[in-house]
Amino acid sequence: MSRKPKCRICRKKAIIYMPHHRLALCKEHYLPWFERYVERTIKEFKMFSKKDRVLVAVSGGKDSLALWFLLRKLGYEADGLYIDLGIGDYSLRSKRKVEKLANTLGAKLFIENLSEDMAPLPELKGITNREACSLCGMVKRYNFNKVAKDKGYRVLATGHNLDDEASALFSNVINWNIKYLGRKFPVLREEEGFVRKVKPLCKLTEKETALYSILRGIDFLEEECPYSEDANTIFYKQVLNQIEEKFPGTKLRFYLEYLRKVYPVFKEEKEGMGSCKVCGEPSPTEVCPLCRLKDKMINLNLTGRSSTG
Ligand code: SF4
Ligand code: ZN
Ligand code: ZN
Repeated sequence: MSRKPKCRICRKKAIIYMPHHRLALCKEHYLPWFERYVERTIKEFKMFSKKDRVLVAVSGGKDSLALWFLLRKLGYEADGLYIDLGIGDYSLRSKRKVEKLANTLGAKLFIENLSEDMAPLPELKGITNREACSLCGMVKRYNFNKVAKDKGYRVLATGHNLDDEASALFSNVINWNIKYLGRKFPVLREEEGFVRKVKPLCKLTEKETALYSILRGIDFLEEECPYSEDANTIFYKQVLNQIEEKFPGTKLRFYLEYLRKVYPVFKEEKEGMGSCKVCGEPSPTEVCPLCRLKDKMINLNLTGRSSTG
C-alpha cells in the first residue's frame, strides 16, 4: 500500500487523491481547485457568461445542489427549477432539501408539480409501457425546456457528472446507438424551440462532487430515488468503476476522447424537429410524447389537465 498522499500545494494530509489528474489536495485547497475547474469547464465549452440568466435543474441530490451553490458563488445569475415527480416521501424529502438551499442562497426557485399537471410518476407509469426512468426523463426534458423558455432563461444547466456522462456513453457505445453519439456534448446550443443546455460538472466524478458538497456543508438528499434500481446506468457505472480501478484515468479519458474525436464525426446525425401540433413544443412527431400521454389519460378518464386547455 502506498503512503498517504499529501496535498500538492501545502504538503498537509490530502483529503482526496485524483489519479486522473495525478493530484492530491487537502480540504483547504480542494474547494478552490474544484471551483476553478468548473469555471474553466464553463469557459472551455463557452457554456454561458455572467450576462446570461441560468436556470439550474435541481433534484435535491449532491450534484445539482452543488452546481447551484457553486454557480451563485462564482457570481452567475442562477435560479433553480425543481420538478416534483410525486414519488411519495422521496419527492417530499428532496423538495425540502431544494427549498432549504434556495433559502440559504436567497435565490428564486420554480417548482413544477407533475401531480397537478398530469399525475404522479408512479401513476403515469401504470398507464404506459415505459420504464419509470424513461418516462421521468421525458417529463423532465419537456418541462426543463418549457419552463426555462417561459420564464425567460436562455440557459438550462444540469448537474450531470463524469460518471453519468461516461456510463451513458458506454452503454450507447455497447449498443452502437449512433444517434446518441452525435447528440451528447456538454453544451447543446439553442435551436428553434430549445434553450441552451449545459453540463458544467461533466468532467468531475461523482466522488469529487460529493466531497465538494460535504465540505461546503450543502444539505443534500443521500437517499436514492426508489426507481433508481431500474436504471441500467448503475450497472454501467459499476463496470466503469472496475475498469477505472485497474486502469486509473480511463473514465475521464474515455469521455474526453469521445468529445474530441468521436462527437465531431457524428454530430451531423441530428434529427430535424417539428412542433407538436397540440402544445407547440419541439417534437420529432406530429404530437409530442407528453401530449400523447395526456390524451391517453383523458381517454382512460383519468384526472390531469388536457394539453389543449
Ligand atoms: Fe427519475 Fe429514474 Fe432518476 Fe428516479 S431514478 S428520478 S425515476 S430518472
Ligand atoms: Zn493543501
Ligand atoms: Zn405536445
